[in-house]
Amino acid sequence: MSATMYYEADANPTLVGRRKVAVLGFGSQGHAHALNLKDSGVDVAVGLRPGSRRVSTAADAGLRVVEPAEAAEWADLIMVLVPDQFQQSLYAEAIAPNLEKGDALFFAHGFNIHFGYVAPPQDVDVAMVAPKGPGHLVRRQYQAGSGVPALLAIHQDASGGAKDLALSYAHGIGATRAGVIETTFKAETETDLFGEQVILCGGIDEMIRAAFETLTEAGYEPEMAYFEVLHELKLIVDLLFEGGLAWMRYSVSDTAEYGDVTRGPRIVTEQTRETMRQILAEIQSGAFAREWMAEVAAGTPNLLAARRAVSEHQVEVVGRELRAMMPFLVAKTPEDDQ
Ligand code: NAD
Ligand code: MG
Repeated sequence: MSATMYYEADANPTLVGRRKVAVLGFGSQGHAHALNLKDSGVDVAVGLRPGSRRVSTAADAGLRVVEPAEAAEWADLIMVLVPDQFQQSLYAEAIAPNLEKGDALFFAHGFNIHFGYVAPPQDVDVAMVAPKGPGHLVRRQYQAGSGVPALLAIHQDASGGAKDLALSYAHGIGATRAGVIETTFKAETETDLFGEQVILCGGIDEMIRAAFETLTEAGYEPEMAYFEVLHELKLIVDLLFEGGLAWMRYSVSDTAEYGDVTRGPRIVTEQTRETMRQILAEIQSGAFAREWMAEVAAGTPNLLAARRAVSEHQVEVVGRELRAMMPFLVAKTPEDDQ
């Protein structure tokens, strides 16, 4: 099975141009969507809570900022770009009372629609336009005359024109310049959660700490361990990003490649693969979503405890010191972004 792709010529830019677009949220994705649409000539308003520290950022960028409910009332296309765990309450309080027949409700991730935390009425279009990159890249590529690829999916086509409208929106944020891949809310949501749990975040995070602890427990210096198991990951990921497995294996030494092909299968065993299948099943059944929403309802106690614990881990303590010695690397901490 191969995915359907759309490009510039497949999109009609005037469709989104005839809409009043509310972008709810002004974080990573929100700022990029709102500014790209505005530069594409689209009538945009940003919906933010009055106390939000993003209000002045959005206003300084020349955007009209109103409260989320007011934005939703004014708009006939609403793009939801607040964090996934707040979309259910934002929908109930600010969006649902202001949805009218013919409106369109857009998302950049399928979590809330797919798992049923947001259930829009049948007379509105529900679609996803999800850039496959962080917001700063979506903005920067647009300004450079290029774009970041995006996923497109239709959950509900009330008007008969949901896909054309979603493609027009994708055009407005620059995504059709790169290419738009058609998928479903189910596939996008389940693969996204699986990727972040087993490799991108969960898998890598745990591998780094296990490898670091193995070296330091064997008596090696923590600084040596840090460089080997964390810092150098970037070199490898860049090679994978540029040319896949073959380019990475070609670029490392033959010794490293031989270690890769003979030792890798001893790290990721049949038991690891079985666990991956179990994690996928928990995602597909909705068990992970229910667990996460219960954690949110309780005030994210486990997440906060895990954040504190990791910041005290030796790989983090030594990492902060070493990064400070590398001015070429623009060291960052979560506090810098508050
Ligand atoms: P973010 O955390 O960067 O920004 C969230 C924004 O929402 C902030 O402006 C915040 O002030 C605002 N906000 C929070 N709660 C709110 C509320 N109750 N009412 C109004 N505004 C509120 O979020 P993000 O990373 O841009 O993610 C937004 C959506 O885009 C998510 O569905 C995410 O899955 C999706 N997405 C993100 C990326 C990415 O790289 N960050 C990529 C593709 C898709
Ligand atoms: Mg993702």
